[in-house]
Amino acid sequence: MGRPDGFLLYARKEDSERTCAERIKDYQEIRLAARTDERRKQAARCMNCGVPYCQSAIRLNGMVTGCPLHNLIPEWNDQIYRSNDEHALRRLLKTNPFPEFTGRVCPALCEKACINGCDGEPVTVRDNERWLSDTGYAENLLRPAVITVRSEKKVAVVGSGPAGLAAAYRLNLRGHHVTVFERNEKPGGLLMFGIPNMKLDKTVVARRIGLMEAEGVEFRTGIAVGKDISLAELNEEYDAVILACGASQARMPAVEGIENTSGVIKAVEYLSETTRHVPDLPEVNAEGKNVVILGGGDTGNDCLATAIRQGCVSVVQIEMMPSPPKERAEDNPWPQWPKVLKTDYGQQEAIHLFGKDPRIWSRTLTALNTKDGVLKSVETAGIRFENRKPVISEERETVPCDLLIIAAGFTGCETELPLSAGIELTARNNVASEEGIYATNIPGIFSCGDMHRGASLVVWAVREGLECAGEVDEQLMGYTNLI
Ligand SMILES: Cc1cc2nc3c(=O)[nH]c(=O)nc-3n(C[C@H](O)[C@H](O)[C@H](O)COP(=O)(O)OP(=O)(O)OC[C@H]3O[C@@H](n4cnc5c(N)ncnc54)[C@H](O)[C@@H]3O)c2cc1C
Repeated sequence: MGRPDGFLLYARKEDSERTCAERIKDYQEIRLAARTDERRKQAARCMNCGVPYCQSAIRLNGMVTGCPLHNLIPEWNDQIYRSNDEHALRRLLKTNPFPEFTGRVCPALCEKACINGCDGEPVTVRDNERWLSDTGYAENLLRPAVITVRSEKKVAVVGSGPAGLAAAYRLNLRGHHVTVFERNEKPGGLLMFGIPNMKLDKTVVARRIGLMEAEGVEFRTGIAVGKDISLAELNEEYDAVILACGASQARMPAVEGIENTSGVIKAVEYLSETTRHVPDLPEVNAEGKNVVILGGGDTGNDCLATAIRQGCVSVVQIEMMPSPPKERAEDNPWPQWPKVLKTDYGQQEAIHLFGKDPRIWSRTLTALNTKDGVLKSVETAGIRFENRKPVISEERETVPCDLLIIAAGFTGCETELPLSAGIELTARNNVASEEGIYATNIPGIFSCGDMHRGASLVVWAVREGLECAGEVDEQLMGYTNLI
């Protein structure tokens, strides 16, 4: 443990963020570079409590608490405090191949489970992780691994999001020949074309891809498997195929005309086109527009922050659930994930700019009002749930709207590719196999990440990719030391 009394001596201090007024002028990361002296103090707050829920990932009351990667948090916090940065980094990389991603975008299940949070403020695990990985790059501690022994085995990974990257990373280190197929023009999945630059600068993603290329992973971009090459061909040519294609089917509300009205766009399309054009505006943009975002979650928040940067004149975020409480409810104690109201960076910016929270709770979209096929406003109604069934109120409210962004969640993977090879899917359009098992019903084909789990988090995609690599390795070699 760092300092036995560290948690008493030092108050929690997160990395500073740029002010709303400053950051809405550009698409740069909102968090400022971490200060080394502060991170060492913050690491000293970890008391090595002996019951590190932070690294447990146990299921409590139906939800996972603690880090799904089982990061050895007390160990590397101790090493950060003692200035043994290289050793700290080795302990971090043992369980997490991509700390520069999770240190930026993870909702930090670990912090919610930290024992300091039981009666005070948790350790700043995520900020410490970001500092450590950035220090690793800055001090050339994070270098390409040299792989001296190669197997004769060839593995194809379809999809280059965090799940595909994690699987490719681990199988390549093991010595197999890995080729990643990606239909986009750049690798990274939602890390590149989903999560906005403000949270994860795209140079950070490109840097990791460069590292993996230097280690021997081959990336073939602009190739849509199923169109440019069939899955059957890949299965024939490679010793194993991993499908890590994500869960990109957007949930569309059953509102007349929603699929073909000019001024309606799906969230990921909106965000990815923005990323492709930054700092210029993409064809569909929010400049000078009244914007409505359907969905009050994290994706909606990313769209909100993007619309603000593009110069929208108003923005409303429609959320069908009621506002969560500000404090934990009695039946939601530590170390469970706290179901409390979060005002994220985009909402903070909207409050700064327009003077009010953009979210309207317990409402849903009921109709689009158009003129000559162009969106002018939307109708909303109240919604509540009785026995899990939605009950929609009679009253209607009209909200001016030139751009409607659909951020209402996802309904599983694009089914054409897996079905083309006879791969079984669940009723939720995920590839069917139990949690922790990645082989599909078709020999030689595996699946991991959102495509297997359903839309989730980067940290879960990485875990699934790593575990899937272990299963593939075992099948290829007859044994594995990767699990
Ligand atoms: C807007 C947004 C913001 C998010 N923010 C966060 C966040 O802050 N923190 C967090 O933890 N999680 C966040 N998430 C969730 C997280 O990004 C995902 O859970 C994670 O990226 C899933 O990883 P994956 O590798 O399974 O799939 P993806 O990242 O979706 O990658 C799948 C890849 O497969 C490719 N592909 C699909 N089909 C084919 C094909 N036929 N041929 C070739 N390539 C194909 C796709 O182009 C894509 O690049 C966010 C999600 C969204 C949508």
